[in-house]
Amino acid sequence: MRIGVLAVQGAFIEHIQMISNISESYDEEIECFEIRQAKDLQNIDGLILPGGESTVQGKLIKDLGMFDSLHKMIQDGLPTLATCAGVILLARDIENDATHHLSTLPVTIKRNAYGRQLGSYMTNASVGDIKDYPLVFIRAPYITDVDSDVKVLTKVDSNIVAVEYNNQIGLSFHPEMTKDDRIHRYFIDKIISTKK
Ligand code: GLN
Repeated sequence: MRIGVLAVQGAFIEHIQMISNISESYDEEIECFEIRQAKDLQNIDGLILPGGESTVQGKLIKDLGMFDSLHKMIQDGLPTLATCAGVILLARDIENDATHHLSTLPVTIKRNAYGRQLGSYMTNASVGDIKDYPLVFIRAPYITDVDSDVKVLTKVDSNIVAVEYNNQIGLSFHPEMTKDDRIHRYFIDKIISTKK
């Protein structure tokens, strides 16, 4: 299995380390690599869109000629795990920004929804069936509206911070910055069941 992590900006190394650490416990070989240019988008079974700065990432995927391929691959069902800025890239609408990016996830998102300065905090909550997961928020967005077929995985203080929609998982927080690998394992299991 080949998992590509968009590596144009932001916290991509942490995702690669997390996947590498857990890959030994799977029978199937798992290769996790950086996507830096359009040619890196070939033969991928899973895609991770990391946190960082969504405006910069959105511009770079266009400038590097990756936008159309990424859009088509996600639309065609490529399992995709998006964290923080990554989920802003996926969102159909951004409440406080005139732009939108890949628009494959039918939700409305609010950038820097907790404020820019005091926007970083930690809490614990369930993410779908994963109980008591540590949520790390860094100038995070939250989701203000979802289409009826989007599954809400987590709410914190009545704000939606994790969703799943077919092949796409969108998280406001940073699972790669914890020691808890259950979300990455959930994603790998999703790739395995997609390939079957
Ligand atoms: N504030 C960033 C943005 O709006 C996201 C922050 C993050 O990815 N940690 O793009």
